[in-house]
Formats: sequence, structure tokens, C-alpha cells
Amino acid sequence: MPAKSKVSKIDWHECVKCKCLVIGRDLVKHAEDCEKDENCLHSCGHIKDECLHGIISPLTTKEVDGLNIPRSCRDNIVFVNPSAMKMCNIHLGKECIFNDQLIKIAWPSTLISPANIGIQEDLLTDLNCKSSDIIKLEAFTCITELASEVLLHPW
Ligand SMILES: [Zn+2]
Ligand SMILES: [Zn+2]
Repeated sequence: MPAKSKVSKIDWHECVKCKCLVIGRDLVKHAEDCEKDENCLHSCGHIKDECLHGIISPLTTKEVDGLNIPRSCRDNIVFVNPSAMKMCNIHLGKECIFNDQLIKIAWPSTLISPANIGIQEDLLTDLNCKSSDIIKLEAFTCITELASEVLLHPW
């Protein structure tokens, strides 16, 4: 991973055992989890291989209203803490994908803890999960982008 800004380093600590990144608040809990389980099925939010395994925190319509998102794109937006976005190479207004299945648009919000993912309540149904579940979110690289890169080298 290339060097990232120092700001985001403050929030994240690398576990010496499993190499996941966890926030300071979760370090003790993570160490307990990590002792018991080698497969990184942690109960706290963490980053593994630039994927954010975040705790789902649903936002009410009223909370989303307060974030001043244009109504037209609001339904497609998920909220991620800027430091988590940075660590996972998820960019503002760019696509990100849940559990390799559902594509949404990432939006930074410091109201969301770095280990959480803020979604609108009705998205819980689409994702087939409930509040406080852990879900995987990562930057989505679209196929056409990959294809155009390949076309740059037509041998
Ligand atoms: Zn660990
Ligand atoms: Zn881990």
C-alpha cells in the first residue's frame, strides 16, 4: 500500500497477528477475537486487503436530510468516514461495492465512525442484513475501465 496521509494513520492500527487494520477503540476487543479465530471473522469493524469490513449503522431519513445530499442521487449513497475511505482507496462520489454484489456511491461523513458504514434504512432489505452486522465494502473498479487499459497495449 502506498504511503497515505498521516491523518488517517492516527485512527488505524495494524494487528500484528492477522494484519487487519482496526481503530484504537476496538484494539482490545480485536485482540480477543483474533486469539479465538484465525479467519478474520471479527466482531469489530476492520480493514483487510483494502476492503472495509464495517459495522452497518442505518441512518434515518431525517439524519440523511441533514447531510445535504442532492435528492437525485441520495438513494444510491452510502456514508463512510473519510479516513476509512482513504485507507480503502474509496473516492468521493465514486462507486463502491457491498459483498461483491451491490454497487453504491461513496460519500464521506465524519458522523460515521471509521469502523462503521452508514446506510439508509431501506438499504438493509437490499443487503439482506440488519443493524450492527459487519459488511464488506470496497472500491469498485468497473469493467470498462479495465477494458480501456487493456486496449492501450494492443499487441
Ligand atoms: Zn488480528
Ligand atoms: Zn483479521
